[in-house]
Amino acid sequence: EQTVFTFGGDSSHTNARQKDKTVTGGKGANLAEMAAIGLPVPPGFTIATDECVRYLKDGGDFSSQLQDDVAQALKHIEKSVGKRFGDAVDPLLVSVRSGARVSMPGMMDTVLNLGLNDETVEGLATASGDPRFAWDSYRRFIQMYSDVVLGLDHGLFEEALEIAKEDKGFYNDTEMECEDWQALVAQYKAIVREQLGEDFPQDVHHQLWGAIRAVFDSWDSERAKVYRRLNDIPGDWGTAVNVQAMVFGNMGETSATGVAFTRDPATGEKAYYGEYLINAQGEDVVAGIRTPQYLTKAAREAAGAKPLSMEEAMPDAYAELVQVFELLERHYRDMQDIEFTVERGKLWMLQTRSGKRTAKAALKLAVDMVGEGLIDEKTAILRVDPMALDQLLHPTLDPDAPRDVLTTGLPASPGAASGRIVLDADTAEQWSHRGEKVILVRVETSPEDIHGMHAAQGILTARGGMTSHAAVVARGMGRPCVSGAPGVSIDLKNRTLRIGERELSEGDTLTLDGGNGQVMAGHVATIEPELAGDFGTLMEWADKHRRMKVRTNAETPADCRMARQFGAEGIGLCRTEHMFFDARRIRAVREMILADSEKGRRAALAKLLPEQRADFREIFEVMAGLPCTIRLLDPPLHEFLPHGDAEFAELADATGLGVDHLKRRAGELHEFNPMLGHRGCRLGITYPEIYEMQARAIFEAVCDVAEASGAAPLPEIMIPLVATKRELALLRELIDRIAAEVFAEKGREVAYLVGTMIELPRAALMAGEIAEEARFFSFGTNDLTQTTLGVSRDDSARFLAQYVDRGIFARDPFVSLDIDGVGQLVEIAAKRGRATRGDIKLGICGEHGGDPASIAFCEQVGLDYVSASPYRVPIARLAAAQAAL
Ligand code: PEP
Ligand code: MG
Repeated sequence: EQTVFTFGGDSSHTNARQKDKTVTGGKGANLAEMAAIGLPVPPGFTIATDECVRYLKDGGDFSSQLQDDVAQALKHIEKSVGKRFGDAVDPLLVSVRSGARVSMPGMMDTVLNLGLNDETVEGLATASGDPRFAWDSYRRFIQMYSDVVLGLDHGLFEEALEIAKEDKGFYNDTEMECEDWQALVAQYKAIVREQLGEDFPQDVHHQLWGAIRAVFDSWDSERAKVYRRLNDIPGDWGTAVNVQAMVFGNMGETSATGVAFTRDPATGEKAYYGEYLINAQGEDVVAGIRTPQYLTKAAREAAGAKPLSMEEAMPDAYAELVQVFELLERHYRDMQDIEFTVERGKLWMLQTRSGKRTAKAALKLAVDMVGEGLIDEKTAILRVDPMALDQLLHPTLDPDAPRDVLTTGLPASPGAASGRIVLDADTAEQWSHRGEKVILVRVETSPEDIHGMHAAQGILTARGGMTSHAAVVARGMGRPCVSGAPGVSIDLKNRTLRIGERELSEGDTLTLDGGNGQVMAGHVATIEPELAGDFGTLMEWADKHRRMKVRTNAETPADCRMARQFGAEGIGLCRTEHMFFDARRIRAVREMILADSEKGRRAALAKLLPEQRADFREIFEVMAGLPCTIRLLDPPLHEFLPHGDAEFAELADATGLGVDHLKRRAGELHEFNPMLGHRGCRLGITYPEIYEMQARAIFEAVCDVAEASGAAPLPEIMIPLVATKRELALLRELIDRIAAEVFAEKGREVAYLVGTMIELPRAALMAGEIAEEARFFSFGTNDLTQTTLGVSRDDSARFLAQYVDRGIFARDPFVSLDIDGVGQLVEIAAKRGRATRGDIKLGICGEHGGDPASIAFCEQVGLDYVSASPYRVPIARLAAAQAAL
């Protein structure tokens, strides 16, 4: 099958596979598409991702077929531009770039100006009429190739450049003259010889294959792996390679290079947005070496900046660029992120892709584009990543709170963050592991900092623009970020930091406002998010298109209220044991479990009854009219045991039982494997008085609420860890008996259901029989994953990351359901349960109920609802709608 595809020049672009991102990668597919709609794209070719996969698997050999195909494709470029690769008179130069199925900004490698050597540089100098440009390109090429392909430390080259500039008393690269670049090239070559023991490669074909090899290898670099893990990108996709005729933004004052978005990627505002640099190559913009200039006059004026915008400095090229923006938005029906170069006044498009955006921008873009008639409601629903909503649901800085502003940088990624200053990525990770909130402060970030950025609440950089690494990555991760903050200087040796006049140390608290770029000393108060506006509109559309209900996992009235604001349609799991951990109650719980006799237990339970009843009453008031699944006590009693002498002494005081006696009882309750021990319905079977108390508290509360307000919720009483029908039958009798008692006492009957969790493989398999006793099933996929995989949910973090890295699991199975394995059990149970009881209610209450991929599976199986923690309820609403479309 074809694996090398040409584009631009006189290529025909009729091949459907070439426009398929899974074949040619995002960049390759879009280059072909742009060329096909008539945009100015430098001619080139794409080597398919399959070749990368094969190369990495077969240990790095290239087939002769591939070599032939590349030679042919190179001819296509040569013919299109009328220059020959390696020609001493007028040489063709190419760029070699990676391009995976999805964009992984800055994660993989690029080589520019490839095809230069001691001979061709002279040809380029003559042919371009600009020797300075030719030698500037050659030194760039040696530096980049040495870093990316030869694996030499780029610091060596940067240092040589810095010294060369210092010797001349220059500040900017643009001040360097032709002879200066020539001298630097000689130095660079000497560095290569010294480091490598051989000369910089002069054979241009050797250079090309070296670069292709390096791009393939970069797919498996450490930083790419980390990025993939954080973004759930499979390791077996591989990257494509794009080889393209070079166009030059560094050919003097009529040349430039830039990046642009067709709308503001931070706010979603309909305004062109971007940065450019005159007389520069693409890498200069991203690397933050020179501070880029504004694209539009309006943006420049708003920022009060002096250097002319592109709109002012190159009006013709700018006008052409604006036309391209319009065309691309109409073609792709989405906001585009573009890279372009102007070579001697002529505009060239190097890349387009749908732009990464903040959650706020994603919402605004989706809603606006429906208004503009570019997309329909369903497309809008599918456009917003449910997980991105998370950013919007969290608090922002209170505009009225006092702010001690130290400096104001660029608002690179929105949201508010407070935390303690850390000065490197490893420290960020360590401190966050011990539960600290941290702000990562760096001069600028690089892909090596990704893990620290992920661990941090927010990121502050001294350098870099809105498209710097820090800005792009932070937006993708949803971390607030202020970049290019003036007056920030970092002293890594003393672990201190100066912002303007103020001295700070690592560990001091800082607050960032990623929405306006402010950096503040100390902690600043926050306010709750706005749930109306674009958010409300999109949620309304989502609700219209989803089939499954969305409930919440909550056990406090405050959480229930919050969840209802977020749109919860009931409680899917109220874990009653959480109500027992309160300092006062835990004593009664301990008294109960350490009692010797049923009588002792009943006495202690009598103290808990009014407390539990009061909890339920409050929750039922909040959830009036909605179904509420209340799960009876589940965890091993073991978990409630006192720790340490002080707690035993206190308990001895309260109960009048001796410390020795209590310790002996505690010893008897100790379990080696408590998660498979005396827990769940096994407690209800052996200590029925516990479930009796809980059932009584529920029924009394629901009767009270019905009496007071006339609007009761529907209690669904749920039994945990059931494996057999008989367990459920015994406990259902118990509940029905208590219900009858309470209804007789209160003189009122209320509706209720009894059902079970399905969280053991046996229960899933025997669901047909169990359904005879159950009015509903709720899939407890946390335990079901643990018991199906035989992997402890509490101890697996140590090895699961490696399991994911090595492709044993695509994702952490406790985060995203193992659909192949655990999913089968869910499917079997749903089918068998329904066969017995046609109207059995089916839901999920494990953590997976808030994970979009798992929610899609639930829709497929036809569950009636998913249940998620309060902040995840909107995520689940959107994901359920996406699943239904
Ligand atoms: C489950 O096991 O999936 C569940 C929801 O219960 P818990 O997490 O409380 O064990
Ligand atoms: Mg469970």
